[in-house]
Amino acid sequence: MQKFSLHTHTLGFDGQQTELEMLQQAEALGWSHIGISNHFIVHPNIKKSPMYYYAEKGNYAAIYSESFDEAVSKFASHYQRIDEINQTSKIKILKGMEVDYFDNDNWRDGFAKAIAYLKPDYVIGSAHFVERQNILYNSHDVRTASQVEQNWMLHRYWQNVRAAAGSNLFNFMAHLDLLKKVNLGSSAEWLDDEQKTIDIIKESGMAIELNSSAFKFCAEPYPSKRIMQMAGEADIPVIISDDAHKSAQLGSYFEQTEEMAKNCGIKKFLTPCDIMERRLNHKLPSKLLINSRNRF
Ligand SMILES: [Zn+2]
Ligand SMILES: [Zn+2]
Repeated sequence: MQKFSLHTHTLGFDGQQTELEMLQQAEALGWSHIGISNHFIVHPNIKKSPMYYYAEKGNYAAIYSESFDEAVSKFASHYQRIDEINQTSKIKILKGMEVDYFDNDNWRDGFAKAIAYLKPDYVIGSAHFVERQNILYNSHDVRTASQVEQNWMLHRYWQNVRAAAGSNLFNFMAHLDLLKKVNLGSSAEWLDDEQKTIDIIKESGMAIELNSSAFKFCAEPYPSKRIMQMAGEADIPVIISDDAHKSAQLGSYFEQTEEMAKNCGIKKFLTPCDIMERRLNHKLPSKLLINSRNRF
C-alpha cells in the first residue's frame, strides 16, 4: 500500500492540525513522505463571491486571497515553519500547494512570480470554482442553480479542468470530478467532457490523483470508476491522496482506492520522486523579468 500522501491541509488554512502534528502521524504510520498542500486560491473578486460569507462563518476564509501578495505572505510563514521542522525531523515535509487555476494572463503572471518566490516542491492543479462574470461559484452554488445555469456551469467546470491540465503548471491534477460531492455530473451526459479531459491529461503527460476522501460519502474515490477506467485505458499515471484535514485522516481508504484503481486497469502508481521530477513551465514571462517590481 502507498505509504505517503502529498495532498493534506493544516491549521492556519482549512486543516485542523499543525504541520508538526501531521508529520508525527506520518512517522507513526511508518510513511516515507508527507507533503502538505494548503489551498492557494487567488482571485480579485473572491471576497465578493457568495461562498465567502460561509467561509468567514466557518472560520476557513484564510484559504482565499484577493491578491498574490496576500497569498504569498500566508505561504511564506507556513513554509518557514516547515523548514524549521525539517531541520530536525526524520522524514522531511514536502512543501506543496493545492492551486485553483484561473485561465487568464494576469493570473498566470502572478502565479509565476509567486512560485519563483516560494519555491514549492510540487504544485497540485485543481478547480473548486466556476467563474461567471468575474464572480466565483462553488459546488454548492452550482447545485442550487437553475437547470440551464447548472449545465452551463458543469461544462465550464470541465473546461477549466482541461485548461489547468494542459497548462503544464502542475505536477498532478486533484479530484477531477469534484462536483460529485454535490451529486452532480454522474449522468452519461458528462462522459464526453470526461473523455476530453482524460485525452488532454494524456497529451500533456500529466498524472492524476485518486482522492480517497470521497469514500466518506460514496463507494469510490474522486474520480469515479468510469473515469478511472478511461485513465486506465489511456495509461495515465496516478497518485493516491487522502486530502487529510486532520492527522487521523492520513491514509484513510488507501487500500480500497488502490484495489479499485487496479480493477479499473490503472497500472502506473507514482512515487513522490516521480511527481517532483515532472518538468513544469514555471518560467516568468519575459515582460515580468524586464519590468519586475518584485513585490514579494
Ligand atoms: Zn480540493
Ligand atoms: Zn485538498
